[in-house]
Amino acid sequence: MRCLMCGRELGECSIRDILFGDDPLCLTCRKQWKYYPQCFYVDGIQADSDYLYREGFSTSLIQYKECGDEALKDAFLQPMIRKLQRRYHGMTLCLMPSSEEKIKERGFSHLMEMYASLGLPMMEPFIKNASAVQKELNYAGRQKITEQISLRKDAVLPEKIVLCDDVITTGATLKGALHCLNRTKHHILIYAAAADNEGKKWKKKEEWE
Ligand SMILES: [Zn+2]
Repeated sequence: MRCLMCGRELGECSIRDILFGDDPLCLTCRKQWKYYPQCFYVDGIQADSDYLYREGFSTSLIQYKECGDEALKDAFLQPMIRKLQRRYHGMTLCLMPSSEEKIKERGFSHLMEMYASLGLPMMEPFIKNASAVQKELNYAGRQKITEQISLRKDAVLPEKIVLCDDVITTGATLKGALHCLNRTKHHILIYAAAADNEGKKWKKKEEWE
């Protein structure tokens, strides 16, 4: 087997294999990913992430999402599989939506494939409407792009859910999804493989802004 990023042959029966199991990335490529587990809050809901959205992770994510390199699907969560299975046992993963045009362009649901390795129940209950571009009349020429997230009409959500995404940047998509949910009816957690908080002075367990 070869590393999915650099193509180098992965050693068989080495210490590396014992330590890292079925990692589809070689140790050199894996080391470029900044493993940095964080816990914070999005609109008061506990959220966890494991990588920083920097070179390494971001290069692989772009290759997977935008260049359609589907083989990378297991690279993102592989090192955390056991931890995530334990943490989210008994919960259903609710994947964040992509816009219809992005889904068509990719030809696959990138989060569905990414999260399948956890073996937990999954669903895609949300819809992302095409970005609505609104002209603010008070400020000529100024445009505001809002992401509109809604719940599918036929979606029946279980009691315990984890809102899952690949990377949290502004948190707008997650906040949009939270807006659709009745918090008194559901136990909700959030997980994103990576968090993009570079340049942000953000302390542990604070609200994501
Ligand atoms: Zn490599």
